[in-house]
This record gives sequence, structure tokens and C-alpha cells, in this order.
Amino acid sequence: MPNAISIDIGENTMKAAVFGVKSETCKTVYKGPVQRRDIVGQISGIVDQHKGFDGIGVAAPGLLDANRGVIIRARNLGVENLKIVDMLEDRYNVPVFLSNDAVASVVGERFFGAGKKSKNIVYLTFSAGLECGIIENDRVLLGKDGNAHEIGHCTIDASSEVRCGCGKYGHWEAFSSGNGIPVFARYLLDTKFKGRKSKLHGMKTITAKDVFDYAKSGDAAAKGIVAEIGRINALGVANIVELYDPELITIGGAVALNNRSAVMGPIMSRVKGYTINRMPKITITPLGDMVTLYGAVADLLG
Ligand SMILES: [Zn+2]
Repeated sequence: MPNAISIDIGENTMKAAVFGVKSETCKTVYKGPVQRRDIVGQISGIVDQHKGFDGIGVAAPGLLDANRGVIIRARNLGVENLKIVDMLEDRYNVPVFLSNDAVASVVGERFFGAGKKSKNIVYLTFSAGLECGIIENDRVLLGKDGNAHEIGHCTIDASSEVRCGCGKYGHWEAFSSGNGIPVFARYLLDTKFKGRKSKLHGMKTITAKDVFDYAKSGDAAAKGIVAEIGRINALGVANIVELYDPELITIGGAVALNNRSAVMGPIMSRVKGYTINRMPKITITPLGDMVTLYGAVADLLG
């Protein structure tokens, strides 16, 4: 196979790359806002520009039926029951593989990133949502429906009043993801940090970027919010250490990549205090925001 096209459908950004099988290189050919109303049309517009490829790998967030090639529900994308594999195979007449984006990422890490020598790896993404891909003894852990990556919807605070995007309360994603942080920040500003001076109090909308940026500039409430997020992330990563006993945990996603010390600091300093298993190596992914694109084509490489 000379080349494969790799597609990463993010919750906000669509990315595409051409993967050269011989050179094992991934070259970005597209990066732009995801067109939620016509995702397949957007992908076709990108793929149509290329010739001489023998397969397409697609990574997508949310609940999938990877065997049937269907995105069952990607809430943040507004997508339900999208038969993306059939649609792309009919159009291009090449094999198309669908995988969850966190699963693709851990595979990318295993073959092309920090995990080349590791058989037990977890890749954790802090992006619009929060997910993890798991490789256990060189086997991708998928679960009965292929959704073992949904760690963001594990309850990390059973008494919390903070509502997750899925509608349930106290899920990890509700506190630490790009979509969750603004809601959690608002909750803390109205409760625990009500009396703390902060520019965030007067803001109509708050983004995750605002919270980290203000914390960096010394804003008292923002610093408190980032500390709360850090405490929760350390608990979550500690649970990963105990659940999967990995050799390596790599961390990516825009929230982590854009705020490395704020996200990694509490994880590196606190996880050991919560766990009994031997500590794995924990690091930011060296593949950055390309990690998913590398992994999405792995099924095509045999
Ligand atoms: Zn949830």
C-alpha cells in the first residue's frame, strides 16, 4: 500500500493527513472547523483532492459501533447513527476503518510515539471531552461494544452537583474537559469561590482557556478552579493506574497540550499519594495533536 488517508474528526476541529507507509510519516493536509451538518461531505471534499491511496482511516469521538462502521452517538458533534464507513467505501472503493479517537491515539502512541517499547499503555485525552485508549499486554481493550474508552463518564465525585454533558452528575469529564471546565468554573464561582476576587465573576461566558489564562496571571478564583481541576485529574489518573496497571500513560488533547504545566503538575505530584500499584511513566504525548492521525490508519497497515 503506497499511502493511506487519515481523518481525525474532533469535536471542534477536523484534521486530515496522508500517511506514507514506507516512510511511516504523517503529513497534515487539512485542518479546519468541523462541519457538523455534513461531516461525510467535508471528509469527501478533503479526500477528493488526493489520488493513489489504498485505504482511509477515520477516528471519531463518542459512542461507536466500530464493527459495523457506525458512529452511534457523538453528542458534542450532534451526530447519530452515521454509517460513515459504508458511505466512504461506496464512494472511494477502498477499505475504510473507523475507530474511536482515543483508541486510535493509543495505537498511534504504541507504534509511532512514546510507546514503541511498551505493551501496556493508556493514552488519556483532555479535549472537548475526556476519553482514554487502553492497550493491555499489546491488545487494544475495547469492551463489548467497543466503548471501554469512556472513562470521562466515570463518577469521580458522587455527591457533586456539577452536571456532565451526558446529563449525569459528578463525571470526570464534567470537571476537566474543554466542555466541562466552563460549567465547573461557573459552579465554583457561585459557591466555594463566591467571595474570591476574580475577573471571571463579571464574564458572561467563560472558556477553559480563560480559566487557565487568568490563573496564570494570578487571578485568585481562577487559581482555585485550576487547583480543583488538578486535584480531580490526579484522582482520575490514579484510578487509571489501579484499573489497568499500565507501564506508560501518555496525555494529550488541546486542554492538556495548551496548558501543560497546569494539567501535568498536579498529576505528577499527587497520583502516587492515591495509589498502591507501581507507578507508570506519565508524560505528555510526543506526537502532540498528530497522535490520533497516526493511529487512525494503523488497521490499514496490518
Ligand atoms: Zn458524563
